[in-house]
Amino acid sequence: MTEPLVITRVTHSCHLIQIGGLTVLTDPWFSQRALYHPGEPIAFQPEQLPHLDAVVISHEHYDHCDLEAFRRYPGKDVPLVVAGPVVEKARKAGFSNVRALEPWQSAQVSDLTIAAAPGKHGVYEVTYVISGGGRSVYFAGDTLLIPELRTLTDRYGPLDVALLPVNGLHIRMAGNKQVVMNAEEAAELTAALRPRLAVPQHYAFTGGTVGDMLFLKSDKDPAHFVEAARRLVPDVPVKVISPGEPLTVDPDPGPGPLTPSSRAEP
Ligand SMILES: [Zn+2]
Repeated sequence: MTEPLVITRVTHSCHLIQIGGLTVLTDPWFSQRALYHPGEPIAFQPEQLPHLDAVVISHEHYDHCDLEAFRRYPGKDVPLVVAGPVVEKARKAGFSNVRALEPWQSAQVSDLTIAAAPGKHGVYEVTYVISGGGRSVYFAGDTLLIPELRTLTDRYGPLDVALLPVNGLHIRMAGNKQVVMNAEEAAELTAALRPRLAVPQHYAFTGGTVGDMLFLKSDKDPAHFVEAARRLVPDVPVKVISPGEPLTVDPDPGPGPLTPSSRAEP
């Protein structure tokens, strides 16, 4: 029997992914501070999380790697698969089972395969394809769209879900540099990967009134991704999810039984 695939956003890029009967947490973030606000609820605190079988962390920024809060999670031996610069920080936070993956390396974590894909952001970043129980999910952290990402399904096979950032974040003080893919680029990647379902993430985030005015520019409306995807790849469904709302992704029904009318004539 196929185990259910369930995606629950905690907030921002932090998700619980139940796959192959196991639970993975992505990019832990459980708090806020000046200039860093999720802009949506934080559905769970570390003490309220279910038992985790693995954690993936795309990069070291506070809104993706809140180890100060996540250290309150009681299972310090949970396997952490992280970007290289996160290793020392995670060990210092008390986690004992931490490993880094370079892009295109993969690790076996109990019955899951976690493969690292490249990313491009303001700092070093990796993204992840998580597979188990015949299902597979791409978690894109907050990367820009780079050409290598279009090859993911050639390397790892079809995806059930792609969790894609969509806010096109620009940093005003860095010459208005873009550091995250925008809705249109996320839709382009959706068209290239053709997951069975695309789910936007990383959009509600705000630097607060002052932060958004002085430092950050971003698109906070996931409907822009929904519209772009509908235009570029109308046959791939998109689902916008709210923190704490579990989304169950049905298994691929496959071609179904042959009926007399669909059977090829000899
Ligand atoms: Zn970041």
